[in-house]
Amino acid sequence: MLIVQKYGGTSVGNAERIQNVAKRVLETQKQGHQVVVVVSAMSGETNRLIDLAHQVSKEPDSREYDQLVSTGEQVTIALLALAIKEIGGKAISYQGHQVRITTDNSYSKARIKKIDADFIRKDLDEGRIVVIAGFQGVDEEGNITTLGRGGSDTTGVAIAAALKADACEIYTDVDGVYTTDPRIVPQAKKIPRISYDEMLELASLGAKVLQIRSVEMAAKYKVPLWVKSSFNNTEGTLVTSEDQQMEDVIISGIAYDKNEAKIAVRRLADKPGIASQLFAPLAESNINIDVIIQNISADGFTDLTFTVPRTDLTKALRIVEKTAKEIGCEKIETDEKIAKVSVVGVGMRSHSGVAAKMFQTLAQEKINIMMISTSEIKISVVIQEADMDRAVKALHKVFIET
Ligand code: ADP
Ligand code: ASP
Ligand code: MG
Repeated sequence: MLIVQKYGGTSVGNAERIQNVAKRVLETQKQGHQVVVVVSAMSGETNRLIDLAHQVSKEPDSREYDQLVSTGEQVTIALLALAIKEIGGKAISYQGHQVRITTDNSYSKARIKKIDADFIRKDLDEGRIVVIAGFQGVDEEGNITTLGRGGSDTTGVAIAAALKADACEIYTDVDGVYTTDPRIVPQAKKIPRISYDEMLELASLGAKVLQIRSVEMAAKYKVPLWVKSSFNNTEGTLVTSEDQQMEDVIISGIAYDKNEAKIAVRRLADKPGIASQLFAPLAESNINIDVIIQNISADGFTDLTFTVPRTDLTKALRIVEKTAKEIGCEKIETDEKIAKVSVVGVGMRSHSGVAAKMFQTLAQEKINIMMISTSEIKISVVIQEADMDRAVKALHKVFIET
């Protein structure tokens, strides 16, 4: 079999852990498989680099930022290849641009366009373990790009898809996908099998165990995707196509996201074209808007409130202020101390009453809901960040533990 294994930051967090990964991949190869390993930077390293960038620059230039933050992975690939060789294995490490992981040029959220699979296959056929840097890509002009936080998951799945690998295994510090983050709710349960759709919702709603794009890509190319622990050999979670059994479960998980901020534009003229004038320049600047609410107005004016990624708040605010000058409004307010909490389940398609139960649970906890958004298989609420842990615990108790 051809197996792609991805090891996250904690799993390569120090020399000893890198040696542990070396042992695991060599063992996999000895069982008769061809192995490609994708690694993240050592835990904390990407944050350290981001922090350094902000120390020298208020709004870092995007090309240089990616050039910088991609370096964490260069360290771990070389260390892992060295550690594999040290215990008698054959290995070779590559950075993203060396295996030609070609992306578009949207720095910090680049999308993979193409991977040179033949290049990797040649090494595999010669018996090497191929170690590839996660997170990194290169655009058509040769500039280094990165795939967004948690992007090594996507590198792993993209390589598995390009090589038509038999499995893609994501090794991390938890032994699978849980009904919610086990760090917040110790009673969280491991989900043995989860559909691509549900995992996609959980990931897009903040469950950082898998990056969204990795799940999108796994679904598109039907890559069997496992989430497992790098510290033990328990079964893990299989992310796969939906089956009947999965639909019987109404709520499969609860996710939270602290990475958004809210912008409220007060007293805008309530007339056709206003929303488009406000949001078009944000879209042009590649800023993803998430939840949007527009208030009902009586006197010809309305309020528009929406959320953007916290990291884009300064940029978004500048754009909104500029538009507001053209279209007029009373004031613009921002709030960074918000969190989005969501309940997810494909069973919601055929069961009603989930929203009512969710709102009732939050009311009992005296948690104020600021925004609500729904889709076929999820309900999300935006609340104060300080209420987040309590909300997740209470919803888990009501929807999953009982
Ligand atoms: P890595 O560095 O290996 O990529 P991450 O920190 O990105 O690891 O992702 C693993 C973390 O995701 C876990 O430690 C856990 O706290 C968090 N997490 C959030 N939601 C879930 C969930 N539903 N199931 C499992 N882990 C989750
Ligand atoms: N090192 C990158 C990050 O911290 C990519 C990853 O770990 O997946 O976001
Ligand atoms: Mg991760």
